Amino acid sequence: MKKPRKCLNCKEPLQGRVDKKFCDDYCRNSYHNSTMRERNNCTRNIIHTLQRNRKIMADFLQEKSTSAKIMREDLLNHGFHFGYFTHITKKSGKQIYCVFDLGYYYKKENEIMLVSVSL
Ligand SMILES: [Zn+2]
Repeated sequence: MKKPRKCLNCKEPLQGRVDKKFCDDYCRNSYHNSTMRERNNCTRNIIHTLQRNRKIMADFLQEKSTSAKIMREDLLNHGFHFGYFTHITKKSGKQIYCVFDLGYYYKKENEIMLVSVSL
């Protein structure tokens, strides 16, 4: 026996065409709106974390300086999230983790070099 198909939005049983997913336009719209809202919340949180990471790096680098040597704990103490970066680039054999236009690479296990990267 086939399971009765249900509306993805209100979970009411569906009638009519086999490929139907929603009762009507209202259900289709509210389903897509809530899906988009969740997706937007997710991207907003990630963007926020990336922006905070960039701010922390910029504060350490300060205005005109293009590089700064710091300890890994310094970044952690300021709430830096190491899992969040925008891309990885290579320069003179070093793997640089970038957060937008700023990056870092490991000098030693606990020692980090902050650099500004040209995009
Ligand atoms: Zn419905």
